[in-house]
Amino acid sequence: MKIICIGRNYAKHIEELRNERPKEPVIFMKPDSAVVPKGNPLFLPDFSDEVHYETELVLRINRLGKHIPVEKAHQYYDAIGLGIDVTARDVQRQLKAKGLPWEKAKAFDFSAVVSREFIPVDAFDDLNDIDFSLKINGKAVQQGNSEHMLWKFDELVAYVSKFFTLRTGDLIFTGTPEGVGRLERDMILEGFIGDKSMFKIRVK
Ligand code: ZN
Repeated sequence: MKIICIGRNYAKHIEELRNERPKEPVIFMKPDSAVVPKGNPLFLPDFSDEVHYETELVLRINRLGKHIPVEKAHQYYDAIGLGIDVTARDVQRQLKAKGLPWEKAKAFDFSAVVSREFIPVDAFDDLNDIDFSLKINGKAVQQGNSEHMLWKFDELVAYVSKFFTLRTGDLIFTGTPEGVGRLERDMILEGFIGDKSMFKIRVK
């Protein structure tokens, strides 16, 4: 299983980090070892002083595909979950400044919170109107809607499959809206799709 992540897919998040608006989706990956195991807290890595949460809708791939046309892309994912792309922002800033790859900042152990449950795509009225949010200690810190994505789910699946064969069980993190911020020990993170609680996890 692999995790493919999309960076800079929400205009307001691009602005908050003062990044350039990309002409094509920004892609990076996390290995399967990045996933926080079931029931574990979110351990912060010791090599960073500025670990950020990025709350993202996650597509679950349900069949093998490569070079998938946009019109057929909807046949390649069957459910949507919620995740946190845990990011060592200080490390990422250093790597970016040197033009180096982002893995140390994005793909380390426990850098991917993934909801255990996924919601079948059929359960949504409109995939381009999915509300999602993150609460920290009960207070909303990030609120997004899939309508604000620069590239929609089908476009992302098609684009990603030009470079990487997609397999059943692969996940695509579709990018974070604005409101990212720093994680501190003992925070309780709870993620929602609509009103439905998708995960609740303590930071350690
Ligand atoms: Zn992200």
